[in-house]
Amino acid sequence: MAARTDSYDLGRLRLSSGEGRSAELTVALDPLRFAEETYVPPGGESEMRLDVSRTTGNGYALRLRFAVALEGPCMRCLENAGARIEVDAREVDQPGAGDELRSPYLDDQELDLRTWARDALALALPAQIVCSEDCLGLCPRCGANLNEDPEHAHEPEPDPRWAKLSELKLD
Ligand SMILES: [Zn+2]
Ligand SMILES: [Zn+2]
Repeated sequence: MAARTDSYDLGRLRLSSGEGRSAELTVALDPLRFAEETYVPPGGESEMRLDVSRTTGNGYALRLRFAVALEGPCMRCLENAGARIEVDAREVDQPGAGDELRSPYLDDQELDLRTWARDALALALPAQIVCSEDCLGLCPRCGANLNEDPEHAHEPEPDPRWAKLSELKLD
């Protein structure tokens, strides 16, 4: 298994324009905050595939692919729920072609893989992470897990006007 790396020096590939190379890397992955919950990549890292192509004019076209099984709570019932996320991200860095063609993850030839991987993972998340599509969530009044007790119900609230009446002291 490859040693864990946070960044990658593209210069050492010594690519001339039009050439490409792929690398299999183990990259550190930080826990992710999402909708007030925390999702953790197992082992804090992931195997990733990096494709590097040298464009004409000393630029780079980059592609980063990985799959990770995040661990964390269901957003409805807070029980354990996993989410397998597949990431396929691309970056272009073309010096002299304007700011929109510069990659924020590339500093000279040094690629900040850890930051790119974290951002790409955040963008690939589903709208919600749930233990199952039909998760019933928690009772809004008492917090009971409705998956374990689908019949769960409360007595209707007493009419607040009656509560007011019972506070009246009648002499
Ligand atoms: Zn759930
Ligand atoms: Zn309840």
